[in-house]
Amino acid sequence: MTDPILKIDHVSKRFTRMPGLAERWVGKLTGGGKPVVVHALSDVSLEVTKREVLGIVGESGCGKSTLGRVVAGIYAPSDGSVTLHGKPIAREHGGNVDKLTTQVQMIHQDPFASLNPRMKVGETLAEGPRHHKIIPANQVRERMRELLEKVGLEGAYADRLPHQFSGGQRQRVAIARALAMEPEVLVLDEAVASLDVSIQAQVLNLFMDLRRDLGLTALFISHDLSVVRHVCDRVAIMYLGRLVELAPADELYAEPKHPYTQALFASVPTVGTGKGRFEAIKGEIPSPIDPPPGCAFHPRCPFAGPRCRAEVPRLTGAGTARTVACHLNDGGVEMKTEAAA
Ligand code: SF4
Repeated sequence: MTDPILKIDHVSKRFTRMPGLAERWVGKLTGGGKPVVVHALSDVSLEVTKREVLGIVGESGCGKSTLGRVVAGIYAPSDGSVTLHGKPIAREHGGNVDKLTTQVQMIHQDPFASLNPRMKVGETLAEGPRHHKIIPANQVRERMRELLEKVGLEGAYADRLPHQFSGGQRQRVAIARALAMEPEVLVLDEAVASLDVSIQAQVLNLFMDLRRDLGLTALFISHDLSVVRHVCDRVAIMYLGRLVELAPADELYAEPKHPYTQALFASVPTVGTGKGRFEAIKGEIPSPIDPPPGCAFHPRCPFAGPRCRAEVPRLTGAGTARTVACHLNDGGVEMKTEAAA
């Protein structure tokens, strides 16, 4: 196996939310109103090799976007580290985050919100390369036109404003802006989720072509299992800030092993149950402010036993290249007795 270039090593991310004025007043009466800690990521470790596309999948609130932002250097981890070729991607000091590399770039879901509405897209594309002196100043304009052509737009569109593009074209501009920094790693956060299905296919095909031509490595964050299947080499399933299953895409789609992955697959039309029925995952995703003890999925899991309510399952091997965090995979869901331990 090729050495990983991107390492996410035991990363946790917590956000502290201070109570508002009204909450503080109520808190004076009730004894509450204290800062709350949101556990967005808990002890996540992943490695990504060059040219690999790793899918990150889970329900809304599972921490996948936070993980993308930590990898992109927008957030610094609370614990653990994220490194590219052994060097940290970001550093936090005094409450500010310094991004230490331009080699990781992020593409967001909403291209309109991420583009300056008053700036011509040619200028938007040129901003980063100019600031970081990635391209000689006298070549920037020509390079930006070439980049627009590379993503399937006309070079002359450099003089247009974002509102003069369709949604699919704007996402192509967002891809061009990321590529303008000549990154080694792209983080795509629900990058096609806001597009019509036919436009999604065009943008995904563009991404696949660019991946092949430029040798890109990518984290592909999505809730859409059918899209992930077409794009990703391996897939990581997340639940309430933790990694619960990691496997090559073919293996995962052939046989999901973690009960949450099974429930996720059964709940979407792309994979189905084989009987034309789709089963909604029972119960609500718990609050990341007060995650359940033991396995975070136990309140919704049909296989939960006493051990699941007491002990956090660790990721353990379940096949040649697959790991699963479930007690069904590491000795069973019943509490171990003294003799059995
Ligand atoms: Fe279900 Fe227990 Fe496995 Fe968690 S550890 S997924 S509760 S069987």
